[in-house]
Order: sequence, then structure tokens, then C-alpha cells
Amino acid sequence: MAKTPPVYLDCNATMPLRPAAAEAMLHVMQEPGNASAIHGFGRAARRHVEDARNAIARLAATNPAYVVFTSGATEANNIVLKTFAGQKIFTSAIEHPSVLEAAPDAICVPVTPDGVIDLAALERLLQAEKPDLVSVMLVNNETGVIQPLAEIVRMVRRLSPQTRIHTDAVQAAGRIALDFSALQADYMTLSAHKMGGPQGAGAIIMAPGAKIERLFHGGGQEKRQRPGTENIAAIAGFGAAAHIAQETMPEFQALSALRDALETRLQTLEPRLKIFGAAAPRVSNTSQISLPGVPAETQLMALDRSNPAMS
Ligand code: PMP
Repeated sequence: MAKTPPVYLDCNATMPLRPAAAEAMLHVMQEPGNASAIHGFGRAARRHVEDARNAIARLAATNPAYVVFTSGATEANNIVLKTFAGQKIFTSAIEHPSVLEAAPDAICVPVTPDGVIDLAALERLLQAEKPDLVSVMLVNNETGVIQPLAEIVRMVRRLSPQTRIHTDAVQAAGRIALDFSALQADYMTLSAHKMGGPQGAGAIIMAPGAKIERLFHGGGQEKRQRPGTENIAAIAGFGAAAHIAQETMPEFQALSALRDALETRLQTLEPRLKIFGAAAPRVSNTSQISLPGVPAETQLMALDRSNPAMS
């Protein structure tokens, strides 16, 4: 019997590289040129960087001038969180370690059993204290739950107008429509490889007036905010992925029908199955399932042996 090809279902860890991103990267890698050089090769390299910046700004509905490229979301989150080191930070219990470990003294807002940031708890905290920064993710990487970020921004602006707001939108970009301008947050972080771009590229989007304390010192790249010769190929791949992700978002969102059918079928087979965040709004590609009484590692190993790769 023919062997079934392996199935990859771990897109929140890394989405497979989109062909358009691979093509853009290959093209750029075959050209010499440092984007800071003023000769023709340098100007061509600069164009690749600026085209990508435009594509990412379009995906996030913001101004390209607000986009700062980094080596990924871990760096982007670290830059934003460390800008507020020693100051008062509120974050949530479900943030990625690149937020939680970059702000070890932050106060963590709890989440509801459905994995949604607890708005009542946040309101109580904001009534008691005025933080310098609130950092909450837009979509959780494990449950896929879309957080009520617009409501959180409104609440923070009402109760603590001086507070800056950051959102890790890594798992949201390309999956749900982003509108950085309408959101009125101060910082947003993105990662290329969660939307079909390459690993090792990311961005901070910064509203006018928002500041960052750079982690690295060196050249004048990215308006001196993130020195270091740009990884032009990765940035070009990021731009191409952002463009395709935006164009194909309706098809990506239609995946929720398949996800729902899978969950219903599994629940019929095993009524003890627990689906996290099922009652909350979720991105279309994510399902977090537990089977009481069977350790997660055992389930993943059994699944891996029978085919799909997931986490
Ligand atoms: N934030 C979230 C929510 C993530 O899922 C990830 C990747 N696991 C990161 C940040 C880190 O992104 P990167 O791999 O680009 O450093």
C-alpha cells in the first residue's frame, strides 16, 4: 500500500514557506548589495526593503514609516518590553515567553476559563494602579482565541490615558484583518514565519510618539532604532508573504468550517474531549484539544506515529 505523505498541522509554530516568499528570497539572494550603499546595487537592495515595508504596512493598515524590521517577534517583543524596564507593566497570563521573560516583574492579568483576558480583572487593576505599559496579545498561539483588544485599548485609554499599549499580533497577522491605525495601540509586533514568510524576520509597528530603547548599538539602519545590516532576503520574503496572506485571507478564514467539522467529529467519537476556547472567537486554523486521563506527550507521540505533526 502506498505510504500516506506526512501531514503538517503545526502552523502556529511555523507556517510552511509560501512559494511567492521563497521566490522573492531566491531572487534577492542572487543580487549583491547592501541597502545602505548609494550605488545602483545598494539602491536595488533598498527598494526590496521598502517594498516589503509597504506590504507589511498594508497588512497592518498603517503607515510604512511606522514599521521597524527586526530578526523576529522575540526580538521585537524584547525591544518593546525592555524599553519599559523598571517601570510598571501589566501583561496577561497567556503571553508568549518573549513577553513574560522580558518583563519578569510585570503584573499578569488573569484569563477566563475560555482563555480570554479577564476584562473585569483588568479594570480592577487599572482602577488601583496606572501602569506605564500594558502588553497583551491579539491572538493566543495555543488556543487561537482572539482577544478583545479594541475593548482593552478603550478601557486603558479611559482609566489610564498616559499608559502605552503593546500587542503581540504574531498569530493574528494574515489570519484576521488588522487595523493598527483604528486600534489606537502604540506598538504591535509581527513575525514573518507565522504568515508563510521565512524564520528570522519580524517587525515592530510604532505609532507616532511611541519610543523604543534599542537593544543593539551600531549603524544607522532602521532610523538607528535597530542597527545591523538588513537581512534583505528575509525581509523580501516577509513582504511577499504579507502580500499573499492579505490576498488570501478569505480562504484562510474559510478553514474554520473544516476545523469545526473535525472538532464535532472528534467530540462524537470521544465525549470526554475538551476543546479549549470553543465558546470564544478563534482564528480559523487553530484547535486546542485535550483528552482527560491521557498525557499530552503520549497523545502527540501516537499522532506523530500515525501521521500528523502538531503541537
Ligand atoms: N509571540 C507569539 C505569540 C508566538 O507564537 C511566537 C512564536 N512562537 C513569538 C512571539 C516569537 O516569534 P519569533 O519566532 O519570530 O521569535
